Amino acid sequence: MAKAESECSLRASRWSLKGTNALVTGGTRGIGHAVVEELAGFGAAVHTCSRNEAELTKCLKEWKSKGFLVSGSVCDASVKTQREKLIQEVGSVFNGKLNILVNNVGTNMRKPTVEYTSEDYSFILGTNLDSVYHLCQLSHPLLKASGVGNVVFISSVAGLVDISSGSIYGASKAAINQLTKNLACEWAIDNIRTNSVAPWYTKTSLVEHLLKNKEFIEEVTNRTPLHRIAEPEEVSSLVAFLCLPAASYITGQVISVDGGFTANGFTSKNFIGYKKDLQDEVEM
Ligand code: NDP
Repeated sequence: MAKAESECSLRASRWSLKGTNALVTGGTRGIGHAVVEELAGFGAAVHTCSRNEAELTKCLKEWKSKGFLVSGSVCDASVKTQREKLIQEVGSVFNGKLNILVNNVGTNMRKPTVEYTSEDYSFILGTNLDSVYHLCQLSHPLLKASGVGNVVFISSVAGLVDISSGSIYGASKAAINQLTKNLACEWAIDNIRTNSVAPWYTKTSLVEHLLKNKEFIEEVTNRTPLHRIAEPEEVSSLVAFLCLPAASYITGQVISVDGGFTANGFTSKNFIGYKKDLQDEVEM
């Protein structure tokens, strides 16, 4: 009986984040919001940030009423000095240690490549790559000091294949995918794991304008074996899993959350299963 009980508690601790802490960038809406709730639900203390103070304050109130331990800072993650201030605040909230860094903030502008200006280029890469890279650098001492560190990047399937979302966005996410592998190897010695989660279309404010377009949605769902777009919670569950002790041997991976989109080389729009007249003839 005692042995069964201790096995149960061992299993429970592998699927818990109690006693850990996390920084999730951009936690007031969309995927980041779902990640904050998922990590807090597994018992982590979470710090998040966003640019809009009123929205942040509203979220912090809601999380408090749900019993989640969440604090927050107003911060534009694309600005170097604000990133430095954020990590100082995180260091002081969590006493110099950080178990989990979720680099979620990202942005996009869709244009043909020849129409992008150098300002567009700096804006997208500055938000999606420079900020993420610098936050990793700034967080490293805290992650190392915690003894068990985790970095999860919110990448995109746009970093794996072209999805007509613009070449700068695709390049920024592909860079994140490689950074995931570099850091997994470089920081393993500090017991820091790094992984990427690559979503396909997910219902958030970032893509709200696209998802209002019926034709566009139909095109997307027709290319997706599960035939629908994702809910933010379907992305945040993988993020939480990667941070759990249960995932302790997983590092350097880029995992798609895409309803089968990247596995789909070709499926005819009207595919309804293998019909008799389309089956190969086999000589018996
Ligand atoms: P949303 O725009 O819905 O939410 C973004 C969140 O980040 C908000 O809380 C926003 O708050 C905050 N944020 C945005 N820019 C900054 C900034 N510069 N500094 C601090 N906080 C910021 O985005 P999603 O949830 O859709 O996207 C999250 C991540 O997922 C991005 O990296 C995106 O590329 C990726 N992704 C999304 C997909 C989708 O279909 N939605 C598909 C694939 C990847 P505020 O504006 O107040 O700052």
